[in-house]
Amino acid sequence: MAGIYIHIPYCRKLCNYCDFYHVTANDNNNEFIRALLKEASDRKSYLGSEPVSTIYLGGGTPSVLKGGEAGMILEFLRENFTVDEKAEITFELNPDDVNAAYMKDLAAIGINRISLGVQSWYDEDLKMLNRRHTAAQALQAIEMSSGAGFKNITIDLIYGIPGLGLDRWEENLRRSLKTEITHLSAYHLTIEPGTVFGKMKEKGLLQEIDEDESNAQFNLLIEMTESAGFIQYEISNFGKPGYFSIHNTNYWKQVPYLGLGPSAHSFNRYSRQWNVRDVRKYIKYAGSAHEYYEREELGLKTKFNEYVMTSLRTMWGIDLEYVERTFEKEGYDYVVNLAGKFIGYGLMKQENNTLALTNQGKMISDNIISEFMMPGT
Ligand code: SF4
Repeated sequence: MAGIYIHIPYCRKLCNYCDFYHVTANDNNNEFIRALLKEASDRKSYLGSEPVSTIYLGGGTPSVLKGGEAGMILEFLRENFTVDEKAEITFELNPDDVNAAYMKDLAAIGINRISLGVQSWYDEDLKMLNRRHTAAQALQAIEMSSGAGFKNITIDLIYGIPGLGLDRWEENLRRSLKTEITHLSAYHLTIEPGTVFGKMKEKGLLQEIDEDESNAQFNLLIEMTESAGFIQYEISNFGKPGYFSIHNTNYWKQVPYLGLGPSAHSFNRYSRQWNVRDVRKYIKYAGSAHEYYEREELGLKTKFNEYVMTSLRTMWGIDLEYVERTFEKEGYDYVVNLAGKFIGYGLMKQENNTLALTNQGKMISDNIISEFMMPGT
């Protein structure tokens, strides 16, 4: 089992909080697609004989692609990799790119999971974030996706936006959960250096909200999604039964994946590699002998840290049998000793052979995870 991630780097507008690799001009779209297919062809053997069970087109904004272009990319992957007939194929869209004909095209080429960047149901927040769409367009996008026959529909929301407040966050959740969505990803706003918000923060024009407010919004998210029948299977991800993201779950379960496109990451259990964050260099060098990526071989401690970091964020938690098998007695003792302290504080729980965060622990997950990190590689 393996996955393929495709990074489409183009965006029509720059969102103020965005730290993903993207460019706003797409005058080299055809050359980009050619480079992408060249890279896919060149790296056919990366996944060995593992069948591909998920494909994820993310970005950037995949919905800048025409239906035919996305179809050509998928067809190429099916010809060159062993793609499972029932593979989960996710496509990210900006709500204002959605129309009935486009959704029909996406369904026809085999896309079966739709991911919409809704972010907020308040136009003033969308303006502040510098999103292109309005709340009315977001609602229409969900309705059109559902109308085109998609059942696996996820949206992204952002909380912790300065000025959002608990009441409007509640309303954002209420409006989201009233729609046809079967999955929700909700991320706390982080102000990253180098972004528009980062620069505003440096000048003292923007400030993160305080911890109590953050926790209140996070708690409300957990409560309201649970009452609506969603399961929090990862700190930021909530799905109805049968609608968890297989692609993302596989990332957290150390399933190998091939990342195509500028800045895309790949993982094959022994190493990670990441492509150049520059679409022009990518177009020039993808699939050629000239190196367009960097690679890191993963030492045992790095593997341990990655495993703990990802698994503790999920409802499945740390599997102690896996830890003992893979990281031997030293790794096992280290985890059990540290976990004992957090169990005592009510921040972690042990069930059979797994260790997971409690709801209280999830609020300070980053702190707990950082205590588990082993120094060295
Ligand atoms: S659409 Fe997505 S990738 Fe593009 S600027 Fe906005 S957040 Fe970033």
